[in-house]
Formats: sequence, C-alpha cells, structure tokens
Amino acid sequence: MKGIVSGIKRNAVHDGDGLRTTVFFKGCPLRCIWCHNPESIGFRREIGFYADKCMSCGTCTTVCADGAVRMRDDLPVTDPTRCRACFDCTAMCPGDARIGYGEVWEAAALAEKLAQDKAFFDNSGGGVTLSGGECLAQPVFARELAERLLEKGISVNVDTCGYAAKSVFEQMLPLTDTFLYDLKAIDREVHIRCTGKENDCILENLRYLTDSGAKIEIRYPYVPGWNDGECEKIGAFLAGLSVKHRIKVLGYHGLADGKYKALGLPDTLPAIEVTADDVGKAVRILHNFGLQAVNGMKDD
Ligand code: SF4
Ligand code: SF4
Repeated sequence: MKGIVSGIKRNAVHDGDGLRTTVFFKGCPLRCIWCHNPESIGFRREIGFYADKCMSCGTCTTVCADGAVRMRDDLPVTDPTRCRACFDCTAMCPGDARIGYGEVWEAAALAEKLAQDKAFFDNSGGGVTLSGGECLAQPVFARELAERLLEKGISVNVDTCGYAAKSVFEQMLPLTDTFLYDLKAIDREVHIRCTGKENDCILENLRYLTDSGAKIEIRYPYVPGWNDGECEKIGAFLAGLSVKHRIKVLGYHGLADGKYKALGLPDTLPAIEVTADDVGKAVRILHNFGLQAVNGMKDD
C-alpha cells in the first residue's frame, strides 16, 4: 500500500518514550487556525515557492518539461493546471527557493528505512511515531506500516487529532503502544471555530480508547483567545473518563517559516505570544481536576 508523507524526523524526543523517528503523514481533515505545518494540510504533492530566496535565474522555466513555469517580473510563476509535482525543478533550483512537499512511499519500503535505526530505538526504549498532518486519514497505509514495524520488533505510537472513524481506531488499537491524542476544545462550536470541524467523533473515540485500555497521553494546544476558555471543560471531561490520562499543555508559537505564503495559503496564525507562565495557569486548572498535567513549555 502506498501513502504520502511530508517529512521524516529522526531523533525526536517529544513524541513518546525514548528516541523516536516521527513520520509526518501528509494531509489532514482539520484546518486548525494555529497550524504551523501547513505543508501537512493537503493530501497531494505540492511545491512551495520562497520568493525571498529566488535568484531569478530562470532555471525552473527551462527544467520543466511540462511548460508549467513562466517568468513574470523576474519571478517564476507556476501554472497549477500544468504542474504535475514531479519536483524536477526543485532539484535544480540553485537558491532552494522551490521546495517539494510530499513523498510517496510503499509501506514495506518505509518500514525498511525506519528499521535502520532499530538499535537506537532498542537502546532508548523508543520507536516510531506516526504523526502528521493526520496519520489516520490514510488508515490503510498507517495500519500496514504499523504492522510491518511491529513485525520488526519496533514499537509504534500514534499522534492523532482523533478525527477518524471508530473502525480505524479499532484496527490501530492492537498495533499501538501509546496514542498521543489532541484535545483542542470540548465545546462543539469552539472546536468548529478553531479547526473547521465538529468534535463529536473525537470525544467518542477518546472514550472508546480509554474504555479499551489504550495507553494515552492527551495534548492540549493552548491558544489564548481561541481555546483557553476550554481549559476547565477539558479538565471536567478528562476527569469523567474511566482513566485519568496524563495531559501535556502545549504552548502556541506563531512560527511557520513563511510556509503559508510559499504554498499560496492564507496565513491563519494568530498574532499572539504564549509564555510558559500562561501555560502554567492552564496546568494548575487541570491539576484542580486531579489530572497529571504537565507544562509542555517547561517539563517533559
Ligand atoms: S530555479 Fe529557483 S532561483 Fe532560479 S528562478 Fe526558479 S525558483 Fe528562482
Ligand atoms: S514540479 Fe515538475 S511539473 Fe511542476 S513546475 Fe516543477 S518541473 Fe514543472
């Protein structure tokens, strides 16, 4: 089974126990306004163009066999109806102004590549984390990759927004060591305002995983002005589950390295700063619900 991946990060230390390799699946059903990985939103291969790095050399216009690039006012303009995202132009661009996002992998080949770091995983108690984007938005690829990693003795974590069919979680449950589960809001309307989608299935899937005995760490991205008012509701919801999960409160940062503009997407990042003290206030509220809450800007 083939799938599309926007990046692979080795030696990740914040995606579960030990040293891990994180695989960022490309494509996400949500549109979180605070997303700092916009290259992971779309499900297709795409080109990012960074105008500030362009040397106006015109190489991309001659490399492109499809005639998809023309120079206009000393800058290349790509016709999306002609571009087939072959990435030939990115390889030849002398300024790294054209970046290709999205690599198609066979699950078997990707598992082989990831297994090259098995000794590091074994020595550190780590493994591979499937992330995104939303890894469960490519459920068949995610399942085959997890199965192949498990066959090689490599543990698998799943970093998910929870927006998937229950049947997908049923299939991933026996393959997953730990679910890193995003909880952005309890209020349905707030969730829609922040992500563009309702949260019914997210809450249902979390209940299902909890009652099924899954190992879960909750991630709460704390974005003042957007979902900070959800803190008490999140605390009450989690305290009412059959297991009290550890929750990590993540501080927001508005850095996307110009990727929104490069991809031609509207920049939705809120212009706010969040400090470790801000996150600490949310952590204290969650402690009041008897939860093991940690400050993602300070603690592990
Ligand atoms: S090849 Fe790169 S540097 Fe040259 S015009 Fe194209 S984008 Fe700009
Ligand atoms: S990705 Fe391929 S088709 Fe698209 S502009 Fe570059 S060379 Fe042309």
